[in-house]
Amino acid sequence: MPSNKYVCGGWACTDCLILLANGEDPVDSMTEAEISAWHKDIRRKNRYRDVTLGLAREEHACTADFGGMTAGEAGGECDCETRTFSSMSCDHCGSTLAGERHAISFFKRTRTRKR
Ligand SMILES: [Zn+2]
Ligand SMILES: [Zn+2]
Repeated sequence: MPSNKYVCGGWACTDCLILLANGEDPVDSMTEAEISAWHKDIRRKNRYRDVTLGLAREEHACTADFGGMTAGEAGGECDCETRTFSSMSCDHCGSTLAGERHAISFFKRTRTRKR
């Protein structure tokens, strides 16, 4: 496994959560044409970075309460990784649809392409 460099955290819309968590398209809310445009957008925005779900430990606010561990690592749950309502644009696909936002982390993509 290449160890990619953590760049920053961001917030993704529910559609992106489904895609990142299950690799599935959110077919309920979009037509096929919209989905292919959406994927194109994501590819363009994320050309030089990889995205994973969840926050990096240093982005968790709850670590202050658990001596440096996240609440999850301490056996509980925290709400650092979900915002119930936000109208910020999605950092993954750029959607500005207001709604839930879920924490994601960006990593610099290490180039593996052969010459
Ligand atoms: Zn937390
Ligand atoms: Zn999105």
